[in-house]
Formats: sequence, C-alpha cells, structure tokens
Amino acid sequence: MPLKTPEEYLESIKRPVNLYMFGEKVEDFWNHPIVRPSINTVMKIYELAQIDEYKDIMTARSHLTGEIINRFTHIHQSTDDLIKKVKMQRLLGQKTSCCFQRCVGFDTANALYSVSYEMDKKYKTNYHERFKKYWIEVQNQDLMVDGAMTDTKGDRSKRPKDQPDPDAYLHIIEENDKGIIVSGAKVHQTGFLNSHRAIVMPTLRLREGEEPYAVSFGIDTNAKGITMIYGRQSCDTRKLEDGKLDIGNFKYGGQEIFVIFDNVFVPKEDIFMKGEIEYSGELVNRFAGFHRQSYGGCKVGVGDVLIGAAALISEYNGTENASHIKDKLVEMTHLNETLYSCGIACSSLGFKREAGNYEMDMLLANVCKQNVTRFPYEIGRLAEDLAGGMICTMPSQADLDSEKIGPLIEKYLTTCEGACAEDRYKVLRFIENLTMGVASVSYRTESMHGAGSPQAQRIMISRQANLEDKKKLVKEILEIE
Ligand code: SF4
Ligand code: FE
Repeated sequence: MPLKTPEEYLESIKRPVNLYMFGEKVEDFWNHPIVRPSINTVMKIYELAQIDEYKDIMTARSHLTGEIINRFTHIHQSTDDLIKKVKMQRLLGQKTSCCFQRCVGFDTANALYSVSYEMDKKYKTNYHERFKKYWIEVQNQDLMVDGAMTDTKGDRSKRPKDQPDPDAYLHIIEENDKGIIVSGAKVHQTGFLNSHRAIVMPTLRLREGEEPYAVSFGIDTNAKGITMIYGRQSCDTRKLEDGKLDIGNFKYGGQEIFVIFDNVFVPKEDIFMKGEIEYSGELVNRFAGFHRQSYGGCKVGVGDVLIGAAALISEYNGTENASHIKDKLVEMTHLNETLYSCGIACSSLGFKREAGNYEMDMLLANVCKQNVTRFPYEIGRLAEDLAGGMICTMPSQADLDSEKIGPLIEKYLTTCEGACAEDRYKVLRFIENLTMGVASVSYRTESMHGAGSPQAQRIMISRQANLEDKKKLVKEILEIE
C-alpha cells in the first residue's frame, strides 16, 4: 500500500536544497526550530492516514491504480469525494490549528486533470496521459506536491509581455528537443520546502503574444536553479527562544516560501501546458475554485480550535456563565458553521467533467471563499474580546520562570480554582498566536489573500450571477413582455 508513515515522510524530505533565511543559507532545514513546526504539521497528515478511525476520510482508492492512497493525492471521483475532502481539511485544521500545506498540489492536480484532457481534445497533444503518468508516481510514492501559481507581477498596470523585467511572470526562455528552460519567481508558496515536487501554473488568463507565459510543468523542489527564501511571520523568532510558552502553538505551524526559478530545465515528459493561452484562464479558475472550496474546511477546523480556546479562557477567567460570553461563543460558532456549510454545499453540488473527475460548484466555492475573507476576522475579534487585554500585556515566560518575580506573576495571574497561571498563559498565548502572531498568517491574512484576494472572488461571482435569468423571473411574475 503506497502510504508513507510520518517518519518515512520526514526521512524523504531530508535532501539538499538551496534555502535562505534571515540572509543566511540554511543547511539541514528539518532541524531548524522555525521550520520544524511546519514539518510536524505535514507529518500529522501522514500520521492520521495510518489510523483506522480516520481512514475513510484520510485515504481513498485511486481510480488510476486501484491502490489505497492518501486522499491528498486523489482525483475526485464523486461528490462524496468532494465532501470528504472538506471534512478531511476540517479535521486537519482541528488537529494542527494551522495551515497543513498539502492542499495546493491536491487542488492543482484536480484542476490539471480535466484541463489537460480538454487541451488534448482540442490540440491533439498528449498532456493528459503525461500528467496521469506523473501523478501515478505521486500516488505510489505518497509524495507531497506544491502548486505554484502566484507570480510577482511587477507593474500591475502592464501585461506580462510588457513588463520592463520579463521575469515578473515566470516564462519559457528557451526550448530544445529535450525540454524547456524557464525563469521567473513564484511567491506565497505554501509548504514548498516541505514538498517533494511542485506543479507550476500560469497566474492569469493569457492573451495572444503571451504564449511563453502559458506554461505548466512538474518539477522537483530541489531542482537545479531553484532558490527558496523562507517567508517571515510575525513573532517567528519566539521559536528560537528558550521555553515554549510564549510561542502559542509550539507544535505546529504553516510555511510560506519565496521561490526563484533561474534558468530551470524542465524535461519534456513533465510539461503539461506549453503555449495554449486559451486554457491558461481555465487552469487558473479551476485551481482557484478547488482551493476556495478547501477554505470551507481548513479555516473551519482552525476556527473550531480558536472557539475552543475562547471558551477555555472564559472558564479560566471565571466568566463562562455570563450571558454575553455565551452569546459570543454562539456567534463564533454560527459564523464558523456558515463557512463549513459553504464548503459542503459547493462540494454537494459538484459535477462530472468530461475527463471523468468531479469538480465543485464554482459559484458556491467563490461565495465560500468570499465569506472566508470576512468571518475569521470576526471570530478572531470575538476571541480577543473573550480573552481580555492580557493577551498582549502579559510578561514573558522568562519572567514567569524567574525565581524572583515568577511567584508574583503566579499570585496575580491565578484566577479560579484548578486553573494555574501556566495553563492560562498557554491559552492566552495560543489566542495571541492565532490572531496576531505566526498562526495569524494561516488564519487571518491567508483567509483574506489565500486562493485569491476578495476581488478575485467578486469577479467570479459576477460572472455567474446570471442576472438575466433573475430579471426574467420578475417579468414572468409581473407579466412583463
Ligand atoms: Fe490547505 Fe488551507 Fe493551507 Fe490552503 S490554506 S494549503 S487549503 S490548509
Ligand atoms: Fe493557502
């Protein structure tokens, strides 16, 4: 059975990569205290897939090989698969309380599966077979794959071909019998360092004359010419300090990488789009649709943990029975479950593509993500309300540990019977971490900009709003010709 254990996954990513952090080259990144929580998070995916209780959600039977595979490498074969995907993401959000990074490649594969099929039908290319071959390797080896979409985009008022620096959008700079050579950069790359491979896609719908930018391919994340720079996150250096109390979520974390492609060679057999501008927009939209569906699962799982933290700190503060506290917890739950409803709804209304795989409902997936750009902020605001000001005025762990002042902090921060100052510290720092610290990247800013900024969803919603049909409804009722 092609399922890696968490330990096998860890061993498999121990490879030399070209990584920088704080201006320095990083060796053996898997031992780095800032990186390690993000690896623990991915290991949790591999761990849960081994546990009987979660197998139905965490694994699936491959339609390509008939083998049981990790669901993160599955191509959806039904609306039930789409629903299970969202449930799996909620579960992982609950278990890690951060971005677990493996969905981007998952969503890319599901988008590319149907787009490559349709390209072949139109252009008589063989992208679909190539991609299937590539993906069977991913399934059989239980590989983690990133999806690389976002270019740096240079001057936003100019098209890719008109940029003063052509590398503002990743593009083909040379082609020969064996393959292509590409240059450019991809930013906001969730989990790129922790991934074995990445699938690169265009970042927008391309036009005539922009064929070199309409390129999609698979690449090993440590391929020659790739440089990674580790993305900074708020309060990240707390992970370098002694003690773990001030970190908040000290076990798990997300990871964002700035990736530069400098003359990277891609062999022919790993190219899945080369110049087919007409399909660039389709690939972008289908990937974005799948990833917007994902947010109706992952952010809900993290929301569950944040609501739990808000309830727990209310208990520790002795305020849990106040009616306004109870009502705020209800409001947080209502908002969180509304997001989940969107994730489940766009999955339930999924449909079959000509290639045979299932895709979510595009309009509802965009409505889902649009809500995600708002509700986690309100849930976070309410969590801060319930936590009280102490989340941002509390002394450090070093003070709590100090023989001289520690007992004083203990004395004044002790609240109810059974709630020690250390537990209160833990929960307060956890809420701080999720709303203002490292984890706020996954829970807040990523809710805003991940899978496309709010305006991108509004464009998709406006395209599918079908106002003409809605006007017809009025005319029919009012007997207007
Ligand atoms: Fe997965 Fe959510 Fe992270 Fe995207 S933001 S990779 S959907 S956990
Ligand atoms: Fe994301």
